[in-house]
Amino acid sequence: MLVILALLAVSCRTGARQDTNLHAAEVPVHPLVHSSADPSSEFVESFAMQVAVFQTSEEEGMLGVVHALSEMGIPFFVTRDLDQALRHSLVIVYPGANGATFNSQQVSQLNLHVHNGGSVLSFNVVAGALKSVFGFRDAIPSRRRHRVIFNASSDPIERYLNRPEEREVQLGNLRYEEIFWTNGYSSDGTSEVLANFDDGTAAVLRKKLGSGTSYLFGLSFQDVILRNQINHDYDAERHYANAFEPGSDVWILALRAWYESAQPGAVRLGTIPNAKQSVLLLSHDVDWENSFDPILEFSAMEETQHVKSTFFIQTKYVSDANSASFFFGKNLANLRKVKAQGFSIGSHSVIHSRGFNKFELGAGEQRLSQPTGHGVRDLIALSMRTCSARSE
Ligand SMILES: [Zn+2]
Repeated sequence: MLVILALLAVSCRTGARQDTNLHAAEVPVHPLVHSSADPSSEFVESFAMQVAVFQTSEEEGMLGVVHALSEMGIPFFVTRDLDQALRHSLVIVYPGANGATFNSQQVSQLNLHVHNGGSVLSFNVVAGALKSVFGFRDAIPSRRRHRVIFNASSDPIERYLNRPEEREVQLGNLRYEEIFWTNGYSSDGTSEVLANFDDGTAAVLRKKLGSGTSYLFGLSFQDVILRNQINHDYDAERHYANAFEPGSDVWILALRAWYESAQPGAVRLGTIPNAKQSVLLLSHDVDWENSFDPILEFSAMEETQHVKSTFFIQTKYVSDANSASFFFGKNLANLRKVKAQGFSIGSHSVIHSRGFNKFELGAGEQRLSQPTGHGVRDLIALSMRTCSARSE
């Protein structure tokens, strides 16, 4: 996705000034859909070429994997019935498997499934009974691994990982001694190590078994995709801005390449409205006082290209430890002007507070006015305290 955006950006810069291929689309915005708490009732079985996602536990949410599959348009369903899952050639076992996940009969079923040509992809498997399915001798848990380095192997799942930034992925910044849990494997000699962690243990294993293949990842998509996307990562990015950082996309692209290589006649569903090949979303962050003046320059420039963008604003109406308030007067006038020109206005939150990371992660439904929630005053007080504590 990042690649597509980068390419488009380049072609926009080098293309003719009046690029007739660029035009604003009228895309209806649907109301927020609240997903079901039970992924197996939300993502149901409907045809043979779907990837079966076998949910092994409710301890970790399924969003990490269902989000990645949806983003890539890979058809899938979620089930807690192993027999149902094994009727499909491609099976993801998620979020993992320990000694209590499968009985011996189910282990044999999985083994047979791969032998007969199926492909099983799993994460954080520590069950001793599954060692021969995935080809590992040991699994060593640790929170002190910070990088994944793909080897010079050329497995089909690495098909899209062809840039240096994609061959080595940072999981978290080294200044955090401990980040999230990973499992570092050692191969038992029957599997190939596709990628290593920085401590030399295996991060991704592949084993050919009979006429099928199994893959094992010593990490969770929750940590390497979702965590980054919601900014709850341990500063996993190598650059702050204006650089190619595929740290999350690598895992999504590996999933896509696995599906395309292992599923004969693989078909991906279109993920862009109106069956378009690609989409470019132009947006601007209007998140401090000096962001307001360039609004008119950007809108004027985009008008000449016949495109419309979204200005994501903060409704910052109070001054705090970060900066002065800016939602008034000329700033409002600029916004009214671009709104009248047909640009859209979105929310870049109320405020950039240094206290936000002290808050509990909500369900997205809390309001400031709720008595149990933090009010604006608390927010500012917290922000001040954090600031003064830092300067001491
Ligand atoms: Zn911002």
